[in-house]
Order: sequence, then C-alpha cells, then structure tokens
Amino acid sequence: MSGENLTNLSALGEFGLIDELTNEIKTKNESTVFGIGDDAAVLSYPENKRILVSKDLLIEGVHFDMTFMPLKHLGYKAAVVNFSDMAAMNGAPKQMIVGLAVSSKFTLEALKEIYAGMKKACENYGVDLVGGDTTTSTHGLHISVTVIGEADAGKVVYRSGAKPNDLICVSGDLGASYMGLLVLEREKRAFQANPNAQPELAGNDYILQRHLKPEARADIVEALGKAELLPTSMIDISDGLASEILHICRRSKTGCVIYEEKIPIDQMTFDMAKEFKIVPAIAALNGGEDYELLFTVRQADYEKIKSIDDISVIGYITDSTDGQRIITNDDQSIDIEAQGWDALKNKKKINGD
Ligand code: ADP
Ligand code: MG
Repeated sequence: MSGENLTNLSALGEFGLIDELTNEIKTKNESTVFGIGDDAAVLSYPENKRILVSKDLLIEGVHFDMTFMPLKHLGYKAAVVNFSDMAAMNGAPKQMIVGLAVSSKFTLEALKEIYAGMKKACENYGVDLVGGDTTTSTHGLHISVTVIGEADAGKVVYRSGAKPNDLICVSGDLGASYMGLLVLEREKRAFQANPNAQPELAGNDYILQRHLKPEARADIVEALGKAELLPTSMIDISDGLASEILHICRRSKTGCVIYEEKIPIDQMTFDMAKEFKIVPAIAALNGGEDYELLFTVRQADYEKIKSIDDISVIGYITDSTDGQRIITNDDQSIDIEAQGWDALKNKKKINGD
C-alpha cells in the first residue's frame, strides 16, 4: 500500500473508527438478541444447549509476522483458530467479540483489511460479530478474539474422556502449516539479504494456504453428528500432534500408541520436509497450527469412523502405566516426549506447554 490515500487513525477518533469497521455488520443467529451498538451484546440460548466460550490472543512478532502475513488472512485466521476450539468441543461457533490494540503505524485501510478477513470467516462459519473494544498500543498489533458457541447438552466432548483401547483418530493431514511457515521464513530471509529477490512461492500453494488461511473442521463435527458418533475425547491440533495427544493422555489419565506410518502427511508437505532436512513425521508431531481435530472413539465405532471421509486412525489409547509411545517406521518404540525433537521446540508458541 502506498502512503498516498491512507487514513491516519488519529484523524478518525475511536468512535469514528468503530463505526467504519462495524457499520455493515448484521446479525443472523437466533441466539443473538442484540449485537454491536450498546454497552454489551445480548444473547439467548435454549436450555438444551451448552454455551462454549473461548479466547485467543495474537501478538504481532510473537504469533504472526506482518512482513508475510496479509492482513485479510490475519483477520480470517484470528477468527478461525477460535472456531476450531468450538469444533474441538463438538460444538459450533455463534458469536464473536474482537479486541484490537493498534499502534499509530496502522491506517484505517489496514484495519479494514483485517476486518474484511474476520467478516469473511464469520460469513463462512455462520458467526455473528457482536462487539469488541478498540484501543491504541505502543508496539504493534494485538488482536484478541473471543468466540461464544453452542453444543448439544450431553454431547460436549472434553479432553478427558479417552479410555484404554479407544482408537485415536485425526482429520485431514498434518505438518503442512509448519512447512508453509518455513517456506515463508526462508523467502523473508532471501528478501532481507537481497531486496530484489523474487519470492519463490509458486508451486507451494497448499502448504502456504494451510499456514496463511487455515480452516476449522466444522465439517468433521457435522459428519460425526450425522454418523451419530460421539468421540470419547477431542482436541484441535494447534501445537502439533505430540503436544495434543499428550494433553488428551494427561487429562484422560491414559497412555497411547501412535504409528508413524499412519500419520497423514500430504505429498507436498513430505517433499518440503525433505528439502528442509526434517523427518516429515516430526513436522506433523511438533509443527503445529494444523487446526485439524484429534479425537478418540470406542473400538465399537470403527465402522462408523470408516464411513466418514478424511479421517485416519493413527493408533490407540493404552493404560497410563504403558506410557505415551510412538512406533516408528523402523519398528522402534519411542517415548512421545523423547529427546531428539528438541530442534523444533524453540518455535513453540509461548502459551504452549
Ligand atoms: P464502551 O465504551 O461501553 O466499551 P465502545 O464505545 O467501546 O463501548 O463500543 C461501542 C460498541 O461498539 C459496543 O457495542 C462494542 O462492542 C462495539 N465495538 C467496539 N470496538 C469494536 C471492535 N473493534 N469490533 C467490533 N465491535 C466493536
Ligand atoms: Mg469499549
């Protein structure tokens, strides 16, 4: 963007800015009684629903890099990562509240781009943007998104319900987002070394898209519902398969066995991992930001699981005394917290554990 026709935020004032960002927003969901424009939004949920609430805080330089994250994608992703948390509870997002802190380097046009992405995400997932707060920051951009959603009473799925012999399932494929990030970081370094360098992004569309514009697996939640299959536990994969399966095991007080060969990895992810000299399974285990669903089902539900597209069975739950193990392609059994994955550890998000 050139500096010519851009609007300085100080020229607008807080109310002018809020108006510019929110003037076209209309609410659609029955549970939204009143959205933007008063001191609080008003919601109404029927008794047979459980209300889900979740928040994600994104800080420039920590969770995203403005040099290669297009603003519209940033807005989309900030919303979708919260929608993914709703899916992980076997629910659906319904309302969203946005907190924005922006430094003076941002213009109205930049914020409108972020909002265009958030509105697009809301449209795609049937969510109402019902409020927010806007303020200035001394450094960079902070986006805090709170999502409110619903699940049927009795059908909320926690991390804690896995039992020995349950099958461990994962949707989609893993590791692609991390490979996309590595490509973007490589191109950024090339650009810093030589500003005339042309970015080599062509041909890497899938992994770039997985990083820049992830989707929440609301379709899997819907398919599970249609198949009348209630997972025993579920989590979304934001910090990598290893971290998430350990969360399930810790909360469920179980062990697990995962087979490296069963971990779903897309061909482009596989090839790019080789190019970066990373074992592809490590990208899936430790990469993160896939926003796929990891869940467990009873063995008796195996036929139902097979009837749903895009789900892989990657292992099974064991007794806690058996520990958390991965069986490698050369038949070794390794502790999932084993050393040797440390090379990837320092990239982990601050709020990961
Ligand atoms: P208050 O001072 O009572 O917090 P504000 O003037 O901050 O109210 O907000 C007025 C209305 O605009 C409220 O409905 C609020 O939720 C909404 N709002 C403020 N900032 C944003 C934002 N960044 N995105 C969406 N809605 C916002
Ligand atoms: Mg306010």
